[in-house]
Amino acid sequence: MVECGDGVCTEKSGQRVNGMIKPKAVVAGGAGFLGFHMTKRLLDEGFEVYVIDNYETGTRRNTRDLAAMGGEIIVGDICEPLHIPGDIDYVVNLACPASPVDFDRVPFEIMRACSHGTHNLLDLARAHRATFLQASTSEVYGDPEVHPQQEDYCGNVNIAGPRAVYDEGKRYAETLCHTYRRHHSVDVRIARIFNTYGPRMRPDDGRVVSNFCVQALSGEPLTLYGGGEQTRSFCYCSDLIEGLYRLLVSGYSQPCNIGNPSEISVRELAETILEITGSSLELKVVPALHEDDPKRRRPDITRAREVLDWEPQVVLRDGLQETLKWFEEKLAE
Ligand code: UDP
Repeated sequence: MVECGDGVCTEKSGQRVNGMIKPKAVVAGGAGFLGFHMTKRLLDEGFEVYVIDNYETGTRRNTRDLAAMGGEIIVGDICEPLHIPGDIDYVVNLACPASPVDFDRVPFEIMRACSHGTHNLLDLARAHRATFLQASTSEVYGDPEVHPQQEDYCGNVNIAGPRAVYDEGKRYAETLCHTYRRHHSVDVRIARIFNTYGPRMRPDDGRVVSNFCVQALSGEPLTLYGGGEQTRSFCYCSDLIEGLYRLLVSGYSQPCNIGNPSEISVRELAETILEITGSSLELKVVPALHEDDPKRRRPDITRAREVLDWEPQVVLRDGLQETLKWFEEKLAE
């Protein structure tokens, strides 16, 4: 066991730097929203981190900031075979376009990232005997008929629908993880990530929190897709990363929901953002983006509580205030 940051975190060999053991991690998708925060966390914990990203949805600002903190940046595509020199202790796969607008924009790229990309990263983990963390998703539950969603619920994905490129892609990636664990003894972690928000989201990523914040700050009506009665449960990024980090170092190889169980409708989210910004803008109902948009979503986090001793700490209003500050800064640029 080695010490990293404030806790015992790994049984890995690690890299010896100035007499200190530094575990080494590869973060695929490190230029993205969650990739940035996860890489920063690992650097803060004393890891040596290699970021791989092709900038499909990640930003150069994120990698510039991570490089300034000591991250090594590799511009590359996980769909190509990967060779990284030296020992690797952890491979974290956060590389995939994940906003519903991307499902129509880059459907084949999403399927390739989930299939070829995950294969390549699992091969990398296998070759280095590294622990592999897969960013899975609440989308594996599709438009759920069970509420809240527990990990043993098999889901209700419409295979023929436009969201399936992501939903089925992520389901396949989970199966790959189990198969590499069974047949190649790869030590895997599977995080089912629910809606997450916070600083470093892209203003144009098309997700509901980004859209509403940008609309509220620019004085435009907030767009309710399909009426706004559908629900989601929003987790602030620092909570999410705490959950991911705990899972990474946990030794637990079954799927684990990581999300905030506090559920609200999209309309209520819009009203909350208007209240915080003190604006009296209109709510504009527009057609749903996809006909199979999930109607309700809320994680059952019993497993995360029991296995990781984790639950979210940040309430929605506080998280939204931080997020609005970030978007204000971005719009001022
Ligand atoms: N949504 C909305 N207005 C927007 C963007 C999204 O009403 O401007 C809705 C979307 O249809 C979905 C929910 O908000 O029901 C969450 O959408 P998001 O794209 O953030 O992620 P999802 O949970 O669908 O993956």
